[in-house]
Amino acid sequence: MAFEGLADRLQNTIQKIKGKGKVTEQDVKEMTREVRLALLEADVNFKVVKDFIKNIKERAVGQEVMESLTPGQQVIKIVKEELTALMGGEESRIAAADRPPTVIMMVGLQGAGKTTTTGKLANLLRKKYNRKPLLVAADVYRPAAIDQLETLGKQLDMPVYSAGTDANPVDIANEALEKAKEEHLDYVLIDTAGRLHIDGDLMDELIQIKNNVSPDEIFLVVDAMTGQDAVNVAESFNEQLDVSGVVLTKLDGDTRGGAALSIKAVTDKPIKFAGMGEKLDQLEVFHPERMASRILG
Ligand code: GDP
Repeated sequence: MAFEGLADRLQNTIQKIKGKGKVTEQDVKEMTREVRLALLEADVNFKVVKDFIKNIKERAVGQEVMESLTPGQQVIKIVKEELTALMGGEESRIAAADRPPTVIMMVGLQGAGKTTTTGKLANLLRKKYNRKPLLVAADVYRPAAIDQLETLGKQLDMPVYSAGTDANPVDIANEALEKAKEEHLDYVLIDTAGRLHIDGDLMDELIQIKNNVSPDEIFLVVDAMTGQDAVNVAESFNEQLDVSGVVLTKLDGDTRGGAALSIKAVTDKPIKFAGMGEKLDQLEVFHPERMASRILG
């Protein structure tokens, strides 16, 4: 399960402070030292850990704890609030254009789960919001990627726009938009090309598509299992494309937590969805508070 090590350690740590009728500075010092080590071990970004600990320390030796009738529990509440804030605070909504279709560009490195997530998102939009999506195969470099999206379209019984491997991705995106308008479809999900590594050509192409279709959302799909690499990828994509949100995939695996806890703080972009498995219904809206509760027990 995800975050298992982190959850165990944090729960152990807060257990010690929980029942305390008085919380001394020494108690806070010991607790934050353990929390710091647990976060670093979970592969959370170093600077993120530093700021997080500073916030907790300031609040835990402050008035809200001193004046509380149950100081131990008050400290735990502070840790939970800060952990929630670290993951973005509120859960975020998905855009809906004033004049449909709403255009969503899916971007990310190959293997992160971009195509699968495109299918999952389409499924969610239909199921939860009663929307009609069009899937767009704009990864013209890999015939397998086009096939994969077409297969997903069949499984979901949803339209897919593709134009083979000779077409230009910008044209494909424009044509797909026209088709969606004609057929009164309300979401256009563009599955863009991924590469094994970030490169200039990939970014240029994504920027061109962005400039042409003015997407309402750009979702960056990253693999939670890759820890700080996922955070670095998010930073680069965000610098170039100003993404609107992140989808963290493979949270069903035994990821340590580094990506989930660092991405918002490093990129200032929220994690909007979490991939919880390979199946098409295994995409969840990311709830920072619920995630914090899961970690802290
Ligand atoms: P792309 O190259 O980024 O389009 O990646 P794919 O969509 O082809 O996914 C790569 C692999 O990751 C596939 O085997 C997917 O089934 C798998 N995958 C995607 N999302 C998840 C997830 O949330 N959990 C798990 N366990 N596997 C996932």
